[in-house]
Formats: sequence, C-alpha cells, structure tokens
Amino acid sequence: MQIITTVKEIRTLVKEWKRQGQTIGFVPTMGYLHEGHASLMKAARKECDKVVASIFVNPMQFGVNEDLDSYPRDLEADAKLCEAIGVDLIFHPEVEEMYAEGFCSFVDMNGLTKELCGKSRPIHFRGVCTVVSKLFNIVTPDRAYFGQKDAQQLAVIRRMVKDLNMDIEIIGCPIIREEDGLAKSSRNTYLNDEERKAALILSQTIRLGEQLIKDGVLNTKELITAMKENIAKEPMAKIDYVEAVSMDTIEKVDKIEGMVLVAMAVYIGKTRLIDNFIIEA
Ligand code: AMP
Repeated sequence: MQIITTVKEIRTLVKEWKRQGQTIGFVPTMGYLHEGHASLMKAARKECDKVVASIFVNPMQFGVNEDLDSYPRDLEADAKLCEAIGVDLIFHPEVEEMYAEGFCSFVDMNGLTKELCGKSRPIHFRGVCTVVSKLFNIVTPDRAYFGQKDAQQLAVIRRMVKDLNMDIEIIGCPIIREEDGLAKSSRNTYLNDEERKAALILSQTIRLGEQLIKDGVLNTKELITAMKENIAKEPMAKIDYVEAVSMDTIEKVDKIEGMVLVAMAVYIGKTRLIDNFIIEA
C-alpha cells in the first residue's frame, strides 16, 4: 500500500490502472479511522479492483469556533487499518496541495443544506461539496462510499453528483455502532468516562424513535417531542436539533411518509455528536 501526498502522483497511478481496465472504489475520510470507516473500505474492496482512501482534515468545512485544530489525527494507525483491509492507496495531501494560494472556486448547494447540520454549521456543506468535488476530480473513481452516519452529507453528495453529471456511483453504507449502541465516530475520543456514558442517550433515543413509529406514531411533531423529552432526561446532554425530514430533499415533514430521515445533533459537554435513522413508511 502506498501513501501519496501529491495530486500529480495520484493522477499517474490512476491513469495506469484505468489503462489496464481496473475499476476504482474511493472512500473519502478525515482520518482517525475506526470500524465505521473500515466498513466503507471493506465494501469498496469487495466491489472494486482498486481501493483508494483519502485522509484529509478539510479546513473549509469547519466553522471558526469548531474543532479543526483539535481534530484527532494518527496517520500511522490509519495506515495499518487500511493495509489490513487491502486498501491500495492512501491519498494524504497537505492543506497547501488542496488549496493553493489564490484558491477561490467553490461548489455550493441551494437546497438540502438549510435544515439539520446546515442550520448550525452554515458553511459546512459548501466545504464538503468543494472538497469532495476536488477529490472526485483527482481520483476519478467509478464508485464512492459514504456512511449513513452522516445522512445529510450522503443526500447532499447524491444530489451534487446528479446535478453536476458526475459519472460516479454513490454507495451509502449503514451506521456502525459500539457494542452499547453509540455510533462510532472519531469525535468519541473527546468524551471523558462520564460523558461517554451520557452519550448513550443518542442511540437510546434513536431506538425510542424507531419503536414509537412501529407503535403507530406517524405525526412527526409528536415523535420529535417524545424524543426531545427523552434526551432532556440526561443532564449532560444539550440538544442542537432533533428533526424529521424527507431523505431526498432534507425538508421538514409533518408525517412519516415515504423515505424519512429522523436525525439529531446533541452536545455532550463540548462534544457535538450526531445520530439518525431512516424509515420508509
Ligand atoms: P469522516 O472521517 O468523519 O469524515 O467520515 C468519513 C466517512 O466515514 C463518511 O462517509 C462517514 O459517514 C463515514 N462514517 C463515519 N462514521 C461512521 C459509522 N459509525 N458508520 C458508518 N460510516 C461512518
């Protein structure tokens, strides 16, 4: 497995693979890899001849008061995990390689980014769309793999690829959780012991939401109120949002009908965690 830091080297390798008729699977990440990332890489390994993973903490998708500087990094451990899965190549560029001096072109979206994380992180998806477009142009994959853990991001990327005629198949992969239910996340490392226990309120509330719908609660106002009340039982939790939106448009819905994404962001101490479930009714 190679670790490559320049666009030029990636292009040379990818061109050679394409000349040989090999298909390329791509997994974009910010590193500090865990089993959630690994599940995307394993899916790519199964379905593609070559697998490229990128590790790049993208400054453009962090707001001013967010955790860009403290975001965890461990390239050595990441490389080991990738190697064990059979990833062919890690693309690990410096910020200057991705954003040369004078950089001023962006990919932005008018819909899908007003609700959920877009509300509390107004510049986030512009940063995500821009970096993912750049990475797609650099790696030119046949398929790219994204986790449902970031369900709004998955919807945004699908829309972007459709709108801009990018010839890439987007594959969504299920949320991987710790044994006790907490969704795996690089940010879980911020939690101390007490916060780690308190963080279980997210997955518990996800299960509650799923159960309520099974029991026939299809009015989203009622559903969201019950979920918020449950989160309020945990004194360390502070709700950013709990919402039910259409999976395609990421607009609020009144009723659980069609493909609905029920998503939440909750602060546990200073750490902002997200979780969700998708329901088809
Ligand atoms: P990140 O490194 O947080 O930018 O995540 C890179 C990719 O891994 C994104 O497509 C995420 O949705 C996905 N991912 C992160 N955590 C999980 C998880 N627990 N289960 C499945 N996919 C995940």
